Amino acid sequence: MGDECIFCKIVSGEIPAKKIFENEATFAFLDINPSAKGHSLVIPKNHHATMLDIPEAELKDVISTVQKVGAAIMKATNADGFNVLQNNREAAGQVIPHLHFHVIPRTIGDSLKLSFGSQKAEEEELKEYEKRVKEQL
Ligand code: 5GP
Ligand code: ZN
Repeated sequence: MGDECIFCKIVSGEIPAKKIFENEATFAFLDINPSAKGHSLVIPKNHHATMLDIPEAELKDVISTVQKVGAAIMKATNADGFNVLQNNREAAGQVIPHLHFHVIPRTIGDSLKLSFGSQKAEEEELKEYEKRVKEQL
């Protein structure tokens, strides 16, 4: 684990947290500064900084817990839906360098602003990035 990692310390119990779920490989707890009531974080127990650092089998365990927690949070908060957000590296807004998925309950008409698709792309640009990304896969 990262010796100074806050989320590793939450897993070990060194720092208190509102734990909502735990299994062999994963851990889920309430976000201390929620975007909505019930906003939770799902993490691997092992320390991995980003989605690029975690072995695929462990990532699958984390995603399974995200699904479970998402369903529970919707029921617990009477939500109509939920967002799953996951930031990789500082440029993407990652503050805690221990991989985590945000699970945020949503209600129709709530005022939370998370926007995608705000820029219009030309056909040539889309073709160029289709090619560039495919070459890396
Ligand atoms: P990031 O920006 O790295 O994707 O999100 C980190 C999240 O961790 C933030 O939403 C923040 O509120 C939450 N967080 C930071 N420190 C703590 C803590 O000590 N306890 C809990 N429960 N959440 C934390
Ligand atoms: Zn950690």
